[in-house]
Amino acid sequence: MIELKNVNKWYGDYHALVDVNETIPTGEVVVVCGPSGSGKSTLIRTINRLEEIQSGTILLDGQDVHDPKLNVNQLRAGIGFVFQQFNLFPHLTVLENCTLAAVQLKKMTSAEAKERAMELLHRVGLAHKAEAIPNQLSGGQQQRVAIARALTLKPPIMLFDEPTSALDPEMVGEVLLVMRDLAKDGMTMVCVTHEMGFAREVADQVIFMDQGAVLERARPEDFFLRPQHPRTQKFLADIR
Ligand code: ATP
Ligand code: MG
Repeated sequence: MIELKNVNKWYGDYHALVDVNETIPTGEVVVVCGPSGSGKSTLIRTINRLEEIQSGTILLDGQDVHDPKLNVNQLRAGIGFVFQQFNLFPHLTVLENCTLAAVQLKKMTSAEAKERAMELLHRVGLAHKAEAIPNQLSGGQQQRVAIARALTLKPPIMLFDEPTSALDPEMVGEVLLVMRDLAKDGMTMVCVTHEMGFAREVADQVIFMDQGAVLERARPEDFFLRPQHPRTQKFLADIR
């Protein structure tokens, strides 16, 4: 379970997260949407401490993410993060990209990491590309590798920051399919995405942010059919 309690973040004097309170139960999929600059990336980046917060608490299964004594590498080993720009290591093969963290953090032997990575590459349909390097792959394939890589350490939580926004339209579907499969498998997921079809079908909750605050949170059927906040109504009207 992910709990955010009265979370506030400032960049200098800019108030980027304003009193955010959210509870995300284990196994749920939350889609975060909202206009550009509303704080979506900031919000999910605070969950694995890529961003610090100035007040409030974030708990992962009761553990305080922003406790200064916490080992950040251990924390991040339990949270898969997928970025808009895949962020694969260009000089490493697909397989090496997937095994690197597990071996560096000494979570598995090299043989175990390879076996696990090959299983995941199968799962995302890319076992045949294990020995390729990233720039020999399409964008959609690179993003599927990034998802496999994020799963190598068996994280109970996955965070996605606009995973399909940098892709050519014909490659969006293959990445969403992998995400759908993960959701069906019971993964706890927080996804920043503009893919409202995905939100409708896969999300348990949709969160709408504006100017650093969460203005609306609802099940997808209510969110799309009966948005309550005028700002949400306008956002949905604009993207239709
Ligand atoms: P987008 O849809 O464009 O990705 P977003 O909702 O993810 O937007 P954030 O990236 O979280 O928005 O940014 C929220 C606000 O915080 C923006 O006004 C942004 O300019 C500001 N901001 C983000 N990162 C920093 C930073 N490192 N330093 C200063 N301001 C920042
Ligand atoms: Mg963003």
